[in-house]
Amino acid sequence: MKIICVGRNYSEHIDELKKEKPEAPVIFLKPDTALLKNNAPFYYPSFSEEVHYEAEIIVKISKEGKNIAPEFSHKYFEEVGIGIDFTARDLQRKLQEKGLPWEISKSFNGSAAISHFMHKSTFTDIQNIHFSLYQNQLLKQSGNTSNMIFSFNEIISYISKFILLKPGDIIFSGTPSGVGPVKIGDVLTCFIEQQEMLRCEIK
Ligand code: MG
Repeated sequence: MKIICVGRNYSEHIDELKKEKPEAPVIFLKPDTALLKNNAPFYYPSFSEEVHYEAEIIVKISKEGKNIAPEFSHKYFEEVGIGIDFTARDLQRKLQEKGLPWEISKSFNGSAAISHFMHKSTFTDIQNIHFSLYQNQLLKQSGNTSNMIFSFNEIISYISKFILLKPGDIIFSGTPSGVGPVKIGDVLTCFIEQQEMLRCEIK
């Protein structure tokens, strides 16, 4: 399986990073070795001093597809969850300044924490899901998928032009504003609506 992520998909997060609004979805990959499941702890990596959390709604691809039209995208996923796109911000900044790919700042071991999944029929409208992240019980991120620049249907269609989607692939759909650094001892909790979905201790 592969993990495909969308960057800069919420305006307020683009503003906080002082970046420009993209004309097309910004896509990057994480390897399967980045996965962190079953509320496993996140081990702070030695190569960074500024690891940020980014809470994101995730979907799991259920059917193989390429060149999917946006109006058919909804047939290619059944399940929705929440994840944390851990980012070594200091490393990312350094690489970006040099115009280099920032792959390693996003794809390192344990950088993709994911919750269990819920069937999409749980939601009346997947483009109107409220989600949040708490750091040590303090609310840090509060977002709604209604504020995505590119919808799930648009993202899936766009990715499938370039990359064959396969069952089990996971898509991270971008983070709202409020990203920030973690430190050892923190506990991050992620909610979809009122339901706690993911808990991650930083070790
Ligand atoms: Mg992200």
